[in-house]
Amino acid sequence: MSLQVDLGNFDSRGAVYNFALKMTFRAVLLAFLFNLAVLPLGYALGLMPLSLADAVKLSVAGSWLFGGAVSGALALLTGHVIRELSVSRAEFERLSRTDMLSGLLNRRAFNAALAETGPGASLAILDIDRFKAVNDGHGHCAGDEVIRSVAGILREVFEDEHLIARLGGEEFGVIIRGGGLAQRIGLVERARNLVEARVIRCDGAAIHTTISAGIAEFASDLRPESVYSAADCALYRAKAGGRNRVVHETEEGNCDRCDKPGVEASAAGMNPFIGEPVPVAG
Ligand code: GH3
Ligand code: MG
Ligand code: MG
Repeated sequence: MSLQVDLGNFDSRGAVYNFALKMTFRAVLLAFLFNLAVLPLGYALGLMPLSLADAVKLSVAGSWLFGGAVSGALALLTGHVIRELSVSRAEFERLSRTDMLSGLLNRRAFNAALAETGPGASLAILDIDRFKAVNDGHGHCAGDEVIRSVAGILREVFEDEHLIARLGGEEFGVIIRGGGLAQRIGLVERARNLVEARVIRCDGAAIHTTISAGIAEFASDLRPESVYSAADCALYRAKAGGRNRVVHETEEGNCDRCDKPGVEASAAGMNPFIGEPVPVAG
């Protein structure tokens, strides 16, 4: 790809033709200048069987016919090969960041985004409730369909504004950017509501499912692992609290898996959601 950097950007077929045309003119010009320097010398030494004017005419024709045609063809070939390589590289990069079952981003892409996210965003970890029972009762294929369906709902709720990934199994991660805190929580609540209301049909079976979610806030003095661990802890509390619910890290409660429980904040009366209805965005 360093060749591409040196030679230019071949992001379209037009760029390849442009490159070939430029290379052709350069080759013709170079051949012409070379002939211009060499012909008078050959003429002065008596090595030329033609007049100087005829030799110049012949060299111009030769530059265009041979130099131009050959270098043009080579440049076209090189441009196309580089373009094909860059298209396959982009496709390879896209695939390496995509979860094949859901079409969402995969954990690798999610981790990279996690490391780049700063304050003013929430991390939600969402997990399908009692998913094992779906697999056991309706088969693995139906389980896959449920994963795809939940992924579709997440896409519907969070759209392109936020980053959605399947972290593995029946677990999803969303980095919710911008808006107010209550608004971000409202989006997760909306996803939970939609999953609860959706009937997933697969091989004649009507499957009902729910999700639980844990949410934590990014902060400038927190490492991504700490934010992840706080969201995971909140998810654990959502499961322990009966499932089909959304728990924010600051909500009252604790869990033995947490290294950052949110109880201090709520105990100090800082929980912004106590007694406050969470608006549903969209
Ligand atoms: P909980 O409410 O506590 O989350 O319980 P659960 O049953 O959802 O969770 P558990 O971890 O017990 O089971 C998850 C199951 O998900 C087990 C595993 O076989 C299944 N699973 C993991 N990946 C896939 C997948 O890609 N497709 C399907 N169909 N099943 C999967
Ligand atoms: Mg589960
Ligand atoms: Mg799970």
